[in-house]
Amino acid sequence: MSNPNGNAALFFDLGGTLVKLNETREIPLDANGNIVIELLPGVAEKLRPLHNHLMFVVTNQAGITRGRLKAEKVEAALAQLDRQLGDILTGWQVCPHTDDDKCECRKPKGGMITELADLYGVDLASSTMVGDQEVDRLAGEAAGVAKFVAAKDFFGWE
Ligand SMILES: [Mg+2]
Ligand SMILES: [Zn+2]
Repeated sequence: MSNPNGNAALFFDLGGTLVKLNETREIPLDANGNIVIELLPGVAEKLRPLHNHLMFVVTNQAGITRGRLKAEKVEAALAQLDRQLGDILTGWQVCPHTDDDKCECRKPKGGMITELADLYGVDLASSTMVGDQEVDRLAGEAAGVAKFVAAKDFFGWE
């Protein structure tokens, strides 16, 4: 749970927040089933100067359970994203489940965030969640993250 002596962190959603989604709002795949990582505008420029902060990605990837995605490909894509950003991510969590699994990690639940907070000694009450959807806001709230910022505001889109 939240550690009041810990550090503030930034938690980011993945698709539609850091990277582009396809027309059906899914993570894009190439012909080999590899995830195509394309950063959204302003993401690299905004995040690079924040490299001294704890920064995490928390992402729902039910496509793993549904068979569209392989867990290793998601892991590889997150590692590639981190390299593209200049190795500034502290860590990430992926929920592979669907609603039917009733797990504690799928957003809008806060499990991925609280797990990272435990692992890295994060003070959630001074941390921020950034996302493009209501489930992101709710997950932050469920975990006790103090603040939610919409991705479009955080990155200054439109
Ligand atoms: Mg999203
Ligand atoms: Zn889950």
